Amino acid sequence: MWIVPEAAIADLITPEASFEAVEAVFGAMSRGDAYNFPVIRESIGHADALYGFKSGFDRAGLNLGLKSGGYWPGNEAKGLTNHQSTVFLFDADTGKCSACVGGNLLTALRTAAASSVSIKHLARADSKVLGMIGAGHQSAFQMRAAVQQRNFDKVIGWNFHPEMLSRLEETAGTLGLPFEAVDLDRLGQEADVIISITSSFDPILKAAQVSAGTHIACMGTDTKGKQEVEAELVVKATVFTDEVAQAISIGECQHAIAAGMIEQSAINELGAVINGTHPGRTSAGEITLFDGTGVGLQDLAVAARVVELAIAKGVAIEVDF
Ligand code: NAD
Repeated sequence: MWIVPEAAIADLITPEASFEAVEAVFGAMSRGDAYNFPVIRESIGHADALYGFKSGFDRAGLNLGLKSGGYWPGNEAKGLTNHQSTVFLFDADTGKCSACVGGNLLTALRTAAASSVSIKHLARADSKVLGMIGAGHQSAFQMRAAVQQRNFDKVIGWNFHPEMLSRLEETAGTLGLPFEAVDLDRLGQEADVIISITSSFDPILKAAQVSAGTHIACMGTDTKGKQEVEAELVVKATVFTDEVAQAISIGECQHAIAAGMIEQSAINELGAVINGTHPGRTSAGEITLFDGTGVGLQDLAVAARVVELAIAKGVAIEVDF
């Protein structure tokens, strides 16, 4: 088997390669060629940690495996990132473990790639203002991936902890874009594309705050109970997701579904838009919302790409296992 350590990943995979891998696997999921297994996520009663597995099988790409890991809130004080994960890949023909890959940077890249894929396929072509809700670790990756998709001329942002907004300003600066901190009313009015990437358990953005024609990528809600936007906004929007089963259970749609405000049939797969079997946005005034819950197949897709690159560059460590 091959081992690709976390420290090697940054020099191996680009955001562009992550984008291609994620777009391809969303398409495969919608065609029925790839499927995710049920997510396990448990509070382990130690170190305040949430731990679990995301796994699946892509018959088209022959990627079988899992991402194991979770969230350790005390890690920052130890100089580590709070999210810790490792991807294990298995030979689809024999079940033998074929690779162990550091999953921390990959998680950020594949999550940013997902919202970026949604922007490519759902945002208005003339989108100019990018609105960011959230200024944590993932937010910089999200912004960098988003600006690849549209000709944005400004970034505006809001965060629950305003002292963290400097991360957005610095990231926008490195991308040559002006940044302005705004309130949620202005963010909703002025942004053509909004990305939310927080760990909120209460709705932040209200339906009445969002302008017609906006595309919203809700990326923070990946657990039961989390919520970033009002359920009324999910009702008002044309909704897309990576996987419907996750959207209704651990994604942003869980609240509108639980309240009986939408039917499951109203939630569309982004993969169907990629494959051309759903038209996606049909008018300039439509609000589109991507519920990006984060699926195991995204992790397997980027990890498999990394293993190929690591072997080609001679940095993968081979172990007799
Ligand atoms: P982080 O801890 O670095 O940042 C947390 C962010 O949430 C900050 O902006 C913080 O101000 C905000 N926040 C904290 N408490 C809040 C509250 N009560 N109300 C509103 N905002 C609050 O986390 P991160 O690594 O940037 O991840 C952000 C979120 O994205 C997490 O919830 C994480 O689980 C989720 N995530 C989702 C996916 C996916 O595939 N969908 C992948 C990775 C992470």
